[in-house]
Amino acid sequence: MPSRKFADGEVVMGRWPGSVLYYEVQVTSYDDVAHLYTVKYKDGTELALKESDIRSQSSFKHRKSQSSSSSPSRRSSSRSRSRSRSPGRPAKGRRRSASQSREHKDDKKKTLQETSLALVVLVLLKPSENNTKRYNGEPESTEKNDTSCIILEQKLKPDLEIKRVLEQYSLRSRKDDKKTEEIFSEKKTFVAVKPIEKVPSKTKELEFGGRIGTFMLIFLLPATVFYLLLMCKQDDPSLLNFPPLPALESLWEWRVFGVFLLWFFLQAVFYLLPIGKVVEGLPLSNGRKLQYRINGFYAFILTAAAIGVLLYFQFELHYLYDHFMQFAVSAAAFSLALSIYLYVRSLKAPEEELAPGGNSGYFIYDFFTGHELNPRIGSFDLKYFCELRPGLIGWVVINLAMLLAEMKIHNLSMPSLSMILVNSFQLLYVVDALWNEEAILTTMDITHDGFGFMLAFGDLVWVPFVYSLQAFYLVGHPITITWPVAAAITVLNCVGYYIFRSANSQKNNFRRNPADPKLANLKFIPTATGKGLLVTGWWGFVRHPNYLGDIIMALAWSLPCGFNHILPYFYVIYFICLLVHREARDEHHCKQKYGLAWERYCQRVPYRIFPYIY
Ligand code: NDP
Repeated sequence: MPSRKFADGEVVMGRWPGSVLYYEVQVTSYDDVAHLYTVKYKDGTELALKESDIRSQSSFKHRKSQSSSSSPSRRSSSRSRSRSRSPGRPAKGRRRSASQSREHKDDKKKTLQETSLALVVLVLLKPSENNTKRYNGEPESTEKNDTSCIILEQKLKPDLEIKRVLEQYSLRSRKDDKKTEEIFSEKKTFVAVKPIEKVPSKTKELEFGGRIGTFMLIFLLPATVFYLLLMCKQDDPSLLNFPPLPALESLWEWRVFGVFLLWFFLQAVFYLLPIGKVVEGLPLSNGRKLQYRINGFYAFILTAAAIGVLLYFQFELHYLYDHFMQFAVSAAAFSLALSIYLYVRSLKAPEEELAPGGNSGYFIYDFFTGHELNPRIGSFDLKYFCELRPGLIGWVVINLAMLLAEMKIHNLSMPSLSMILVNSFQLLYVVDALWNEEAILTTMDITHDGFGFMLAFGDLVWVPFVYSLQAFYLVGHPITITWPVAAAITVLNCVGYYIFRSANSQKNNFRRNPADPKLANLKFIPTATGKGLLVTGWWGFVRHPNYLGDIIMALAWSLPCGFNHILPYFYVIYFICLLVHREARDEHHCKQKYGLAWERYCQRVPYRIFPYIY
């Protein structure tokens, strides 16, 4: 196996994917397994390049001088990067040098098509400040090309070769069948190109406090759940009134564990039903796309029908309330077993299937964050399944059980207004998530984080047992609220939901089809990856408007519990911390992905989540 040719830190010339142009880049690392160099462009964009796409600077200087002296026609080719040049025109205007003519006896048309395509790719992908201004609707300044570090490669490749290059880097224009004239058109402001994903290499920047942090979280997260549930059961759930520890044997019941397993596998059966459309996820680092069945909403309907049947046959759903702690222990035991299984199987997974965020080589860290990105048994995607089904649907079933328990314990003919609000708000949230299930495919959880303890515990224990805390609290600590208060809280929840939903939809629609006429009024900054960053609309208000809406809703879920204790406000406090941390993680990833364009976006939209505050 030949050793690497370029060293870390070396400044070389790297080919811009899909084009015939070379930019000055710095080698930042090398992946021995994938044989790819990570290089950094001057605008901060990082890409993984093959050795064949990298040249030493000296070889270029040599070629450049040769080229400029021997072939004046080439200089005119270089100038043809100006947008004023129509792709159809060079066919007539360009004179081919004698050497080129000798080299390429191919069909003239083919050559010209190829050249046009290469230029299209160049215009689409070249990180240009002027483009940013133009797309933002700012006055356009005279176009200046940074020719100092760009050299047009002499070799002209046939169409097929260009196509291969585009596929290799997962680059594709929004409409492959679009004519090049259309792509060059002044009217077309943007052509989406699939993101350029790096082939996963070792995770160098550790999150969550690194090895020590993740080790502690493995104990801290379950301890927090049990503390909250024990507190909630107390008559006086004040923070300083520490609950007595229950006897160990009271925490486990095989029957409860059996019910939990039954629930989990029932959801798995619903997931496997051949109903609902099948969609493709984002391209993986190897260019492959996984398929996902979108039937979460059907699973919810089937679950609702099953619960209805159980209630019809007088099944006492408050069994869940009576054994709540045992259910939480069962779910925690199951998620731990699942995490161990996931880690063991990840050891055999090919390098390219490991998670970008969970491949540090440290056992504890990878076990916690998840080593394998998309663990699957056949077509059964374990992470995707756990993200939205057993835990999320389980959450609303638990809420319903709490509502019934409240009625039974307090001998009510109707649930309390507070309980109705909490149940309705959270039901709306879950139904919304399931209705928009496809949107999860572009989230960090699916694209970046592996499936390990963090997500397994989060999905199966934290979400159903901590997010239902308000309903659990209300059973033991009834609160009476007036209709006007209920109306005000409902308005708050609706405002939060409106921001949350419209911000998420705006971004998802933009990602799916940037040329959607409904989004025509929105401005965006183009980035070197081909994807744009919205700078008007919700995403021009703050950098994470969806988080803002989510936090407003979280507050609305806690308010029906009154102000006697802080316990029901745990969710909103925790959620602010979670989203502030998540926002920081996302910023970091976006900075790496988009470089200068992301910095420009941050300048245009200075606040992260809370306008004028943070
Ligand atoms: P987001 O939906 O916030 O997506 C972040 C991504 O959006 C970025 O990585 C970037 O990805 C893209 N993006 C960022 N800025 C822009 C812009 N200006 N224009 C266009 N695209 C942009 O990710 P999350 O997964 O964190 O959140 C999804 C939803 O889930 C949110 O509503 C959040 O509140 C909710 N959530 C709920 C949790 C809960 O426990 N209830 C937990 C976590 C999240 P790219 O450019 O690659 O497309």
